[in-house]
Amino acid sequence: MSLQHFSHQHPLVFIESHGHEIEKVNCSGCGKLVSGSSFACVECGFYLHKQCTEAPAEMDHPFHRNHNLNLLTRNPYKIGTSTCDFCQKPCKNFVYHCSCNLNFHIKCALFSHSIAEKGNAEFQDISRIDPLINTGNVTEELKKAECFACWKPLLDSVYFSPNCGFYLHAKCLDLPAEINHIFHQEHPLFLQFNSQRLSCKICQKPQRRGFVYCCSPCKFALHIQCATIPTKINQPFHRKHPLILQSVDECLPCQICQETTNLNDVVYFCSICKFVLHIRPRMPPPPLPQLLPSRYRRCGVPSRGTIKGAIFKDIVKTIAAATTTAAFSRHSDVI
Ligand SMILES: [Zn+2]
Ligand SMILES: [Zn+2]
Ligand SMILES: [Zn+2]
Ligand SMILES: [Zn+2]
Ligand SMILES: [Zn+2]
Ligand SMILES: [Zn+2]
Ligand SMILES: [Zn+2]
Ligand SMILES: [Zn+2]
Repeated sequence: MSLQHFSHQHPLVFIESHGHEIEKVNCSGCGKLVSGSSFACVECGFYLHKQCTEAPAEMDHPFHRNHNLNLLTRNPYKIGTSTCDFCQKPCKNFVYHCSCNLNFHIKCALFSHSIAEKGNAEFQDISRIDPLINTGNVTEELKKAECFACWKPLLDSVYFSPNCGFYLHAKCLDLPAEINHIFHQEHPLFLQFNSQRLSCKICQKPQRRGFVYCCSPCKFALHIQCATIPTKINQPFHRKHPLILQSVDECLPCQICQETTNLNDVVYFCSICKFVLHIRPRMPPPPLPQLLPSRYRRCGVPSRGTIKGAIFKDIVKTIAAATTTAAFSRHSDVI
């Protein structure tokens, strides 16, 4: 059996399996050692894994709706190397490329594509690890690892076994492909690679890596975490009115940390009373009060003493509860 592959001028011959008689060779597609079946032009020393041979020359990727990705045999840039937009490692061999500067290893393009098709058999075979239960064997690498979808620490929640080579939270596999959000009511937001390098409209911070929820024509993007923040909360320290997540065109002190907000910051706000709270941190709340100083980055410790400890605990609990119950809503019905 032989075939003509776009990456090589000669026909490639099928090799059933690579035994000891063949010296170790690397796949020209992914750079990894060839094992199992492959296609090869032995004269030229050109080998491709069967899976790399079968990778489509053009891919319609659900996380990049604007254009198709094209499989190139080499780095598309005249100067510099390309970095994979999924795993962030350099792409030295074949690369799925889009002219808006997106690049992926073959396996990263295929794996991220299969994230969109949840329930995929690929994910059933990978074990899920709960960091709260599985506390042994946590390497330094795992402690530093971040999820390829949200770029938050991997050990924050249940994750897929790193044996699969991909760092991914189980919850990030289950993200809806499309949401509606009150901040952009004109169009739905799609889970996409952030090819336009848009900053998040809630926290104003950029995110180059991983996924964002975005409306590409309007250049509107939200981080995964920011998209899940409740847009309205009831708060024991301000019982008269609910607090609404919104951009505020005044500089007012946050009622927890007393730090003055910047112009047009998105905060929890009661416009009647001019009551402002910074957005809580996106992570599940730590046990109080020990971890407060490091985790509550923006709202820190109620250092200037306007709020007594017990009330402060109440506030944090309420915001935390609201966040965990709100989750995603297709219609942003939290408000
Ligand atoms: Zn390969
Ligand atoms: Zn050849
Ligand atoms: Zn990659
Ligand atoms: Zn593109
Ligand atoms: Zn994640
Ligand atoms: Zn954000
Ligand atoms: Zn839009
Ligand atoms: Zn009020």
